[in-house]
Amino acid sequence: MTEKLFENDAYLWECEAVVTACEPCKNGFAVELDKTVFFPEGGGQLSDRGKLGEAAVTHVAEEGGRILHFCDKPLAVGSTVKAVVDGVVRLDHMQQHCGEHILSYAAWELFGANNIGFHMSEGLVTIDLDKELTPDELAQTEDFANREIWLDKPISVSYVPHTALDNYTMRKKNTRLTGTLRLVSVEGGDICTCCGTHPNRTGAVGSIRIISAEKHKQGQRISFLCGRWALEDARRKNAALRKTGQMLSVKTEQVPDAVQRLKGEIAELNARLKEKTMALYDAQLPQFLSTARVLPDGSRFVVVTPEDTGAAEAKLLLQKVTAMENLLVGIVYEAGGRVNYMFGHSDGVNADCREYCKKANEIFNGRGGGKPDFAQGSGSSTEDWQQKAHTLLM
Ligand SMILES: [Zn+2]
Repeated sequence: MTEKLFENDAYLWECEAVVTACEPCKNGFAVELDKTVFFPEGGGQLSDRGKLGEAAVTHVAEEGGRILHFCDKPLAVGSTVKAVVDGVVRLDHMQQHCGEHILSYAAWELFGANNIGFHMSEGLVTIDLDKELTPDELAQTEDFANREIWLDKPISVSYVPHTALDNYTMRKKNTRLTGTLRLVSVEGGDICTCCGTHPNRTGAVGSIRIISAEKHKQGQRISFLCGRWALEDARRKNAALRKTGQMLSVKTEQVPDAVQRLKGEIAELNARLKEKTMALYDAQLPQFLSTARVLPDGSRFVVVTPEDTGAAEAKLLLQKVTAMENLLVGIVYEAGGRVNYMFGHSDGVNADCREYCKKANEIFNGRGGGKPDFAQGSGSSTEDWQQKAHTLLM
């Protein structure tokens, strides 16, 4: 049985320990110690990383009552090793986990919302609430939680029998737990049964930032970051926003307005481009139609291979041709290093576009399909893609 030093002192990140077992496993060696400062993944908190002597510890897990340190090198059973936890990683996890308690408490205390799920992964933490909070309520929750941090309240760990839980006002009472329970308490604030490593004072969490909130089942999933992770995130986003402002030659606060303006300009240019393209197609239409082949049912089949065409323009051309009477059309164009094709026909034409698409698939070694009145696909491009396209008429 490994003595869990991390349970009583979350700031003890080094110790001397004796190796009691070392077994080869999938990605290295599973090492057991007589005592450890390494927190094994659990209760929503991620595993510690660090070193055991010269061996790197990549993960720690509690399996069947044993704490296993997964290492890249074997260690001699009976030897004494120096166990060193990566303090940056540990403090990150302590900040996120403690922040999770504080934020959950704020949502419960202010709006009676219960935390029913907690998930921590590298760089992102989420809690699930059993009710949805409005943006204003979320801001109030965030403010309240940060104030708990700025007041730098003491945090204590205590051990109580499960029968004593009724003596505490707690947001989350797990009635399935029995025996001696570990309570993590913020003075004048949150009390919660928890196995994680927490700082001694709330101030160590630094800050809490809600990143997003989205509807989840009957309630809400809130993504947030604390401490160093919150700082890193803000720094990254600030840099992105500053760069965007420089590209648009506006101050960062003016970026949304500038983007809105740009979107308007693009929409206007697209409308003008569409108009010009339609006029160009109108002018080219007689030439396209002159190459049409008459099908057995009397309808005409035309293959058009416009240059410098994108999917949106090809679609416009297809609509233009199929709006005319008695036509089946194949539009073949090159874009993004591929030959793309689409087939459609006028109302009343008795042709199956999928058959023509299949033929194009064969010609261009491509893939695609659709419905009897519309089919599309794409294949490999070659120098002579336009000549190949016209073999569709044969
Ligand atoms: Zn906890």
